[in-house]
Amino acid sequence: MKLHEFQAKEQFKRFGIPVPEGYLATSPEEALEAAKRLKGPPWVVKAQVHAGGRGKGGGVRVVDSQDQLTAATAEILEKPLITKQTGPEGKRVYQVLVEEGVDIEREFYLAMVIDRSGAMPVIIFSQAGGMDIEEVAAKSPELVMKRFVDPLTGWMPYQGRRLAYGLTPLPEAGVLKSLMSIMDGLYRAFVSLDCSLAEINPLVITKQGNCLAVDAKITIDDNALFRQGEMKALDDPREKDPFDAKAQEFNLNYIRLDGDIGAMVNGAGLAMATMDVIKLAGAEPANFLDVGGGASEEMITKGFEIILSDPKVKAILINIFGGILRCDVLAKGVLEAAKRTEIKVPLIVRLEGTNVEEGRKILQESGLRFLVAKDMAEAADLVTGQVSNL
Ligand code: GDP
Ligand code: MN
Repeated sequence: MKLHEFQAKEQFKRFGIPVPEGYLATSPEEALEAAKRLKGPPWVVKAQVHAGGRGKGGGVRVVDSQDQLTAATAEILEKPLITKQTGPEGKRVYQVLVEEGVDIEREFYLAMVIDRSGAMPVIIFSQAGGMDIEEVAAKSPELVMKRFVDPLTGWMPYQGRRLAYGLTPLPEAGVLKSLMSIMDGLYRAFVSLDCSLAEINPLVITKQGNCLAVDAKITIDDNALFRQGEMKALDDPREKDPFDAKAQEFNLNYIRLDGDIGAMVNGAGLAMATMDVIKLAGAEPANFLDVGGGASEEMITKGFEIILSDPKVKAILINIFGGILRCDVLAKGVLEAAKRTEIKVPLIVRLEGTNVEEGRKILQESGLRFLVAKDMAEAADLVTGQVSNL
């Protein structure tokens, strides 16, 4: 679960990480009110959406007057913000963060994530802050420093000292102290809030010699939300893909993808394999959907409805190996969904396993038009053939 920048900054403050003063606004008038309570001009108006790269996409504006402030706010709120991370349709902006402007002297990158191979948290620090860190890592990996954190000892002061004193040119003592304290705060925030990511890009030194988190990003591990009630309450459902949100509501493991073949499968492994055969047959999956072993008829119906309501889907492949989920339950679920929504796209079914005969019979007698595949490879060929015939 992602937090908004303003929410992440509030959390960082609790752990002693300094951030610029700022207030949330949902209209140009509110932005003006916010600015009146802040030092400045200059002020900074920042779109609050769950996507990075806002700066380059026009979602972060430094303004020098009240007129510029209201104009920039209106522009940001008016149309979807398109950045490298939003996709071409962009993301609607419901609120902006108005902050006092900061005189930036130097920009750093500081983040903490879980390193899966090491099975421990790792701090990533770079002098090349403010920029696209993936690009820095690809072009000049020597500029990106990583330090593992032993979960038993936690982040150690010497680790912070080594990173800070490794900087060239070396900042003055006060700045170094502040950098080390921010690293320590980031670690404490990361662990206390069960983060999978905590990122400050850029972490800046101002011309006045202060250290500030100018940007803030926090992702909470979904598996820990049961014990992070306060964080869970910060969830903004408007940021979610509507398809993903609906699937979550019904406990379906669904991820929307870019292709046009809808797939309904039971078992994550079979779902992955199904995506592979779809790709192998030359098409692209529109989703990953694992309805799970113990899916009820209602879950099947909901899953099928979600796939049907996706306008990108040009053909649907149902690939079920009936185990705990019986093929007749699957068939009934599909029929239920078909009753409510007209199926306009070709349907290819590959059923095997428990109660397969009953399942096939239910589908055959339903009047639904579908093609039966005898195995996975044929299923993929059929579904791909359907799409290329369109
Ligand atoms: P992102 O593009 O979504 O990562 O948004 P950021 O919050 O990182 O803002 C983008 C860039 O705007 C930063 O890297 C800064 O260089 C710049 N920026 C943000 N706030 C200020 C500010 O107060 N003063 C100045 N001069 N630049 C700022
Ligand atoms: Mn940033």
